Amino acid sequence: MQRKQIVIIGAGVAGLSAGIYAEQHGLHAILLEKNPSVGGMCTGWYRKGFYLDGCVHWLTGTKEGTLLNEMWKNVDAFSSQDDIIYLPSWGTFEYEGTRVTLWRDLKRAEREWKEISPVDSKMIHKFFKMVSDFTKVELPLDLPLSMIPLNRKIGLGLKVLSVWPSYLKTMTQTCEQFAAKFKSPAIRFALTKAQIGEGNLFSMIYSYATVVMGDGGIPKGASKPMVERMKEKFIALGGTLKLNANVDSVAIKNGVAKGVKLINGQIISGDYVVSCLDTNYTIKRLLRDQYKFPSFQKRFDDPVRHQAPSCVLMHFAINKDNNLPIPYTFECEPFSVGGVSIKHLTIRSYSYDESFSRGDKTVLSVMVDQSNVEYPYWRKLSKNRELYLKIKQEIAQEVRNRIINKFPDLGELDVLDVSTPYTFNHYVNTSNGVYMSFLFTHRDPMFAHSGLLRGLKNFYLSGQWMQGPGGLPIAMTQGKFAIQRICKKEKLSFIFSPVRQKTKA
Ligand SMILES: Cc1cc2nc3c(=O)[nH]c(=O)nc-3n(C[C@H](O)[C@H](O)[C@H](O)COP(=O)(O)OP(=O)(O)OC[C@H]3O[C@@H](n4cnc5c(N)ncnc54)[C@H](O)[C@@H]3O)c2cc1C
Repeated sequence: MQRKQIVIIGAGVAGLSAGIYAEQHGLHAILLEKNPSVGGMCTGWYRKGFYLDGCVHWLTGTKEGTLLNEMWKNVDAFSSQDDIIYLPSWGTFEYEGTRVTLWRDLKRAEREWKEISPVDSKMIHKFFKMVSDFTKVELPLDLPLSMIPLNRKIGLGLKVLSVWPSYLKTMTQTCEQFAAKFKSPAIRFALTKAQIGEGNLFSMIYSYATVVMGDGGIPKGASKPMVERMKEKFIALGGTLKLNANVDSVAIKNGVAKGVKLINGQIISGDYVVSCLDTNYTIKRLLRDQYKFPSFQKRFDDPVRHQAPSCVLMHFAINKDNNLPIPYTFECEPFSVGGVSIKHLTIRSYSYDESFSRGDKTVLSVMVDQSNVEYPYWRKLSKNRELYLKIKQEIAQEVRNRIINKFPDLGELDVLDVSTPYTFNHYVNTSNGVYMSFLFTHRDPMFAHSGLLRGLKNFYLSGQWMQGPGGLPIAMTQGKFAIQRICKKEKLSFIFSPVRQKTKA
């Protein structure tokens, strides 16, 4: 019997995952990628002989025995636990000479914090109790929510019930509001800077908890080797990968997706189309704005209310034998980037992984916060190439000076590369220059979508945009969910992980 053809647009982590799961379930995947290599935002590149990483500095799902871990192994993101590096903390924050660390070891962290601020002992205990509660619940990622049977939903609900008060309190609270309950300015600094942008307390604690439970390690070599392994798996399963295949539009007949048309005019036919790239780009460009997705559009059109994170990403060469905690956040003399006043820097030395070494040097990266709000500035600036390049270098020098000022013994600090929100737009078509989906905030604590568009059959939206706040685990899971939905329609049984029991779609 001829296999159904699934045309997948975009070979980022979501597209690779969709492709692998399709091939494992009796479907044939044709994976189309506009760039000459796979990975999308999960990528790395070389400058001046150094390998620079553009993504993974923390991967949820590295703990053996979890659902997510089995899924990452199934797509060959890593095969052995020996390939995972665990850092001792989720970050160290220095404020006016006091260092506050979010250690993986909760007992150590609680003890140290109480030594820093005995007067905050009660609140400190409360915080670490919440972190500990958050380590107890594993999200149901084997099936999309809408496909989970009722009796299992009830079981999950009961499990969540014990930690629900912690969940509820943290979802509607900003990190600032929670930090204000502490007397120590250093602890307040740590609690507010640990989370990107306006992310709520829930996101901050959830992220820290994954690290605490040993579920937030880093695969050796980080992003590029990880997506190359996924690519090899996809090809070994029989999938068709077409690089430099820039999709112009989705081919639709009588409300049914029939394939895609490339920019060069070539038509690629299929029984289903799965779009694994920026949702706004898909709706506006590839679907010519013919199909509405109001809940997404409302977020996209109001960046101030619905923040999504971006950054200016800088890489430097530094001495390998530096003693910097990883990562390390400190206050700095304010400077302006894209209209945002930057008052602190977070630096990350890659001295923990030999893949980044070159002689006695390694790489240090800095992500200076930007968001969808600042994107119009970057889009306008990118039109004047000379000025754009000049501003990029100026920002790198501002950052370099502040790092040298803070750590005079660090030695040389050579600028290797600077990427901006415009780089992300240019590289993967992310319409508002961001690298993750909408954050969970106190105003907007949840966002998840089925990927179906009213009036368009056999077409599925996928990728990190389908569920806030995005990131690699969500991209990979959403790629799988799209194939599960197709399997259900095609009455094909679905085994989400070779080592788990069969899960019927
Ligand atoms: C600096 C940085 C650090 C990060 N750190 C982490 C981290 O530590 N942990 C974590 O979980 N996440 C992290 N992320 C986020 C993570 O990279 C993304 O969430 C994830 O890669 C998104 O995957 P995706 O497949 O959904 O989308 P994308 O990676 O955007 O993939 C979309 C793909 O579609 C392709 N495409 C676009 N348009 C077309 C077209 N017309 N035709 C054909 N192909 C097209 C693109 O080229 C791309 O390959 C980080 C991101 C950045 C930038």
